[in-house]
Amino acid sequence: MASPSISRIQALTLLTLLLLVGAGGLCCARAAIAASDGKEAADVIVINAKVYTVNAARPWAEAVAIRGERILAAGSQQEVERHRSPQTRVINAQQHLVLPGFTDCHIHFLDGSLSLLQVKLDDAKTIEEIQQRVKTYALEHPDAPWVLGRGWQYTVFGAGGMPNRADLDAIVAERPVYLESFDGHSWWANSKALKLAGITRETPDPAGGKFVRDAATGEPTGAVKEDAADAVMRRAIPRPSREEIRQALLRGMQEANRAGLVRGISPGGVSVQGGDFTALDVYDELRREGKLSVRFYIGSRLEPPEASPAQIDRIEDARRHYHDEWLAAGAAKFFLDGVIESHTAAMLEPYSDDPTQNGKLWWDPDQYKRAVEELDRRGIQIYTHAIGDKAVRLALDAYEEAQGRNHSRDARPRIEHIESISAQDIPRFGRLGVIASFQPLHAYPDDDVTQQWIPHLGPERASRGWAFRSVEKTGGILAFGSDWPIVTLNPWPGVQNALTRQTTEGDPPGGFLPNERISLEDAIKAYTLNAAYAARREKEAGSVESGKLADLIIVNQDLFKIEPTEIGKTEVLLTMVGGKVVYESAEWKSGRTVSEAK
Ligand SMILES: [Zn+2]
Repeated sequence: MASPSISRIQALTLLTLLLLVGAGGLCCARAAIAASDGKEAADVIVINAKVYTVNAARPWAEAVAIRGERILAAGSQQEVERHRSPQTRVINAQQHLVLPGFTDCHIHFLDGSLSLLQVKLDDAKTIEEIQQRVKTYALEHPDAPWVLGRGWQYTVFGAGGMPNRADLDAIVAERPVYLESFDGHSWWANSKALKLAGITRETPDPAGGKFVRDAATGEPTGAVKEDAADAVMRRAIPRPSREEIRQALLRGMQEANRAGLVRGISPGGVSVQGGDFTALDVYDELRREGKLSVRFYIGSRLEPPEASPAQIDRIEDARRHYHDEWLAAGAAKFFLDGVIESHTAAMLEPYSDDPTQNGKLWWDPDQYKRAVEELDRRGIQIYTHAIGDKAVRLALDAYEEAQGRNHSRDARPRIEHIESISAQDIPRFGRLGVIASFQPLHAYPDDDVTQQWIPHLGPERASRGWAFRSVEKTGGILAFGSDWPIVTLNPWPGVQNALTRQTTEGDPPGGFLPNERISLEDAIKAYTLNAAYAARREKEAGSVESGKLADLIIVNQDLFKIEPTEIGKTEVLLTMVGGKVVYESAEWKSGRTVSEAK
């Protein structure tokens, strides 16, 4: 270890002096201890690192000095050593890659966190496997009034198949069981769940939803689609208690930190169980207790037919209450359409495999435009879920008109998902300053994409699927996220897919629309600096540079040296948020012990 460049006595003398000055009311609240050359002493220095800073002026550094929650310096080992004092804690990165902490720009954090406490079905391959997991969970949670789970795949039931309550009744009959599909568009109820929700053969299908029925008897089969889910849930499932929400969020933040996430941007809730906006006071309670280890920016979903004054007031109220580095609110989210797989995304032309359908806009275009204009006028940031090319165009039109009317600057409106787009609309992202919020794992070219998504659109439109590179090339800002719990919150498979657009088996060769692949630098930027920009935080976060928040991660492999197909396996060794280490992997802990013993 290098000898400290300032003696203990000198440091104490200085400290005393500063305290005296402070007591006289002349000093700032945070007295600074000087290290060598009169440099401010660091609480922590990260040395022996390969830091990719995402700061264009100085992309690489060897070390980082941190004081309090901010970065003092990022530069050469020598520059950073000047901030070392005897009290400085040293983190030896052992030549590992250091990056700014990642932001997930589209995450339903409470929904995801609650799902961590439920039956996990993502990787279940057969009905028997699902039954086994539900049974085990029910036995292990005898007091849970409902057995809830999520993640089942349609392929489990064979081609075009849907689940049936009988398979659940066979294992849990006395308690209600209710399981959400991986994509959040279908549910699977047992008979008890249907009974508690009052669903019988006489129950009509609600607008926008469906209870699948037995062709012979007309009895509901237990498969529940789209908005019919609300009919079951609202009536019957008890809302999670405040304590359950707290526990879920704490668990969720651990998972997020483990994956390298330091910030989540939530477009609000997807579930009727609540969603992030309705849990803002719980987030705030955790913030006041110092228990947040992820920073949050939380939006509120607006419901058609119009943005009512009450809805807008709620958002403005939230913005007034929550606007610091840990918890911010005050964005509005619109849902303009559905998804391509079920022909519900709004398309300019009919679907290729079913010319009778072209999806439907969920908002009346004029009402939507009026709402956008009003929110924009009040400086509220706007997110719009738009998957079909017709919905994407409407969102761009609305943003453009609002800008023109309000002369608004720096409004940073976003469009979420953008799965298909008309060629003429691609350059509008750059021109209008609209943020393109993509979730790179949604472009993962599995059967869902190749067997459904592509045939539904036809080859011409499918050639502009998830057009990362085309939007970027024309000046659009990419902001990446996961859409957890729809897919994993782990960003590394997302980074990989932005570069390869291939399955882990390497299909299709060369990648799905290889021209839309982007560089590693740009993928990292979309999860860091661009993400900070999307949250209006780029002056405070998103890169490793002096003055910014000390949110960084150390990862186990050098992404710049390995094959892109290996990136998905990246593991985070250490996550730091605001200068505080919030996660260390077991591997890292054992390695560090070894190096300290030397
Ligand atoms: Zn979403």
